Amino acid sequence: MQGTMLYGPRDIRFEDRPEPKITKPTDAIISLSATCICGSDLWPYRGIQPIAQPTPMGHEYCGIVEEVGKEVRNIKRGQFVVGSFATSDNTCVICRHGYQSSCVQREFMSTAQASVVCVPLADGTLVATDDLPPKQLIPSLLATSDVLGTGWFAADAANVKPGSNVVVVGDGAVGLLAVLSAKQMGAERIIAVSRHASRQKLAREFGATDIVTERGDEGVARIKELTKGIGADSVLECVGTQESMMQAISSTRPGGYIGYVGVPHGVSLNGEQLFFAHVHLHGGPAPVRRYLPQLTKLVLDEKINPGKVFDLTLPLEQVSEGYRAMDERRAIKTLLRPRSGSESYGISKRTG
Ligand SMILES: [Zn+2]
Repeated sequence: MQGTMLYGPRDIRFEDRPEPKITKPTDAIISLSATCICGSDLWPYRGIQPIAQPTPMGHEYCGIVEEVGKEVRNIKRGQFVVGSFATSDNTCVICRHGYQSSCVQREFMSTAQASVVCVPLADGTLVATDDLPPKQLIPSLLATSDVLGTGWFAADAANVKPGSNVVVVGDGAVGLLAVLSAKQMGAERIIAVSRHASRQKLAREFGATDIVTERGDEGVARIKELTKGIGADSVLECVGTQESMMQAISSTRPGGYIGYVGVPHGVSLNGEQLFFAHVHLHGGPAPVRRYLPQLTKLVLDEKINPGKVFDLTLPLEQVSEGYRAMDERRAIKTLLRPRSGSESYGISKRTG
């Protein structure tokens, strides 16, 4: 089996790795149909989030179940499944409240840029489709695993409702799919903050009604102009920097909601400013598992096409070029096809 390892800043290697095996009776082994590179993978890739030793990469995945542990009841060999980047039992009290990404048994997936992956807590983490899906829907199904689920959580946490006016801060893949999510939830006006022509175009395809190119105070002023001087009902923060967080807080009307899903890097909030902003603030690692049944159904019914965020597709063994393209902003998001997965659903030669 081959998989992706990060050795240090901008040093990605695709190399031989031990074949994943069932070690706990609740595990499942999945042969991947597709995997991808996340914007959050760029933090360690750039060395901003340093690593102590060579580290396996990847947390977005979908594919065919090859083998399940003895205690796995619902997930079966041969099924097509999608799972979240965070594993969950889906039964503990936190899961039952819908926060599976903080499950008491949570682990973060970290080996998915590979041809085969072991998924812990398979019954709670994975969602199977009824039948093998049409192959052209695989990119969109893969997107539900994190990037769409995260954009959806931003919109849900920001209380987007029919008729809402919405601002999306960030034009990465999550921001673009936050636009799609807000549209699905019935937002009337969706203001996307973006400076890049290709991303603005996709934002409009996904439902953005206005584009703001300014950042910081100028960006806030422009958003206020577009919202009768009041600010937006819902602001979806999809970056995680001090500037983007402050732009989000200052763009929200008093009583409005902010859903923040950009992993914060060096963000600190001023208590007094937050107090007088009078906003609801809700975010964190998206509980993607809560949304997976609904999102996979929207994809299978061809109501949404989130797979459009993948503007570069490479064979998995070219994963290092995938990182470079995203690092240099030549690609919004890179989809990776394992060799076995490009011709089939990813069913490898393993038997038994
Ligand atoms: Zn749980």
